[in-house]
Amino acid sequence: MELACLDLEGVLIPEIWIAFAEKTGIEELKATTRDIPDYDVLMQQRLRLLDEHGFGLPEIQEVISTLDPLEGAREFLDWLRERFQVVILSDTFYEFAMPLMKKLGYPALLCHKLEVDESGRITDYLIRQKDPKRQSVRAFQLLNYRVIAAGDSYNDTTMLKQAEAGILFHAPQNVIDEFPQFPAVQTFDDLKKKFEELSTRI
Ligand SMILES: [Mg+2]
Repeated sequence: MELACLDLEGVLIPEIWIAFAEKTGIEELKATTRDIPDYDVLMQQRLRLLDEHGFGLPEIQEVISTLDPLEGAREFLDWLRERFQVVILSDTFYEFAMPLMKKLGYPALLCHKLEVDESGRITDYLIRQKDPKRQSVRAFQLLNYRVIAAGDSYNDTTMLKQAEAGILFHAPQNVIDEFPQFPAVQTFDDLKKKFEELSTRI
């Protein structure tokens, strides 16, 4: 049995924080783990900025609902789901991803969760587990699935290593250079071909 695991941001949808920063004009929300390596410090800054600008979860979801999946993403995902069971493994939060998951037909998604009070203010965030993408692939393998995984960035590389086959999609050149063991493709057509090639079923 084979399972396809996909990263979400940068693969099927835009980077949510960056797209949200562009929509709202809050420049400091464009900071990523490249600027602030400590994820907790980065998230505390993000939550503080949302507070300062008066963005509770309802306002944030409204902005996110104006974003669209990447061009061709829905079609690719439908193609993949006809051929594999698909699980999306992401470091985003359910509450942020949901408006976009609707546009993708609600595929299975494993990610993190936010804590929100009655007024809609985001008070905290809950990381599901450490190294969640790799741990998910490990768990599927224990269920006797052979996993083919695709992702675009550093936070995907332990998942790609753990999987029986890993693919870099839309990855920047520095990631491609650092992980030459993974085939790298840039278009959904090439990604389809890679999944077909790496599948043992055909
Ligand atoms: Mg990504």
